[in-house]
Amino acid sequence: MLTVVTDDRARELDVRQAAMDWLDQQPGEHIDYAWAAKFEYGGQRMALMTQQGIRKPANLSAALTIRTAYTPPGGDRPYEDGIGPDGFQRYKYRGTDPNHHDNVALRRAKELNLPVIWFVGVAPGVYEPIYPVWIVGDDPHALEFTLAVDASQRLISPAAVTDVDTRAYVERVTKQRLHQRVFRSQVLLAYEGKCAICRLKHVELLDAAHIIADGQPHGEPVVPNGLSLCKIHHAAFDSKLVGITRVECGSGRYNDHLRTRRARINAEGADHLAMTGPFDAS
Ligand SMILES: [Zn+2]
Repeated sequence: MLTVVTDDRARELDVRQAAMDWLDQQPGEHIDYAWAAKFEYGGQRMALMTQQGIRKPANLSAALTIRTAYTPPGGDRPYEDGIGPDGFQRYKYRGTDPNHHDNVALRRAKELNLPVIWFVGVAPGVYEPIYPVWIVGDDPHALEFTLAVDASQRLISPAAVTDVDTRAYVERVTKQRLHQRVFRSQVLLAYEGKCAICRLKHVELLDAAHIIADGQPHGEPVVPNGLSLCKIHHAAFDSKLVGITRVECGSGRYNDHLRTRRARINAEGADHLAMTGPFDAS
């Protein structure tokens, strides 16, 4: 079995490439367990997600996917709280045994330098896939792995992050690749995949706009600070051709797991524009 590592890695890579290609071809889908169970490799079904956080199909030697459950606003957010002092994202072990077979499987992905797919919960049972992600660190004392969420992060060793500029760069990449993707997915879900102004329903033409700009106080990438806008209306919003008036509204529930604030268009000469979205339901 001396050739196992080489053969293993080639096949493992092929499965991952096939899974990522398959995900690429499904834009706009709500990714849930049922959907992720439809992936096939070599004519065989290979579920990409299970109830376990770390997923290693039986005929692979390394983990193929990892999963983080959705956390409602106000709860602990593992993906937001999981940035280490080096700016890299962390992913917790399963349980407290470093040698649990799931942890061993994810460690194997690190040893073979294999990409994994990360499913991040954006609503109950709904996931945003982040890929490719690499395992670049393993800390049995803290019971967590270190993730590179971008090819550029792979070029930086977590142990080599000793200056503030490198740390700031690594953290910025983590936020762009992870938090902004999750923000977009959550906002589009909250607005049912439509532009809040014209109701255009083509997700590839929609952006998640920040109501308060990113980097400003209260400008966080969270749903109450988001608007689903088509490219044209996003540009109009950024150019201040249309604006948003926000009114605090404690009862502004638009479904049972998210809260938002009332918002309405405050557009000079644009009275015909009717805002739609979560604030209509309150
Ligand atoms: Zn629009």
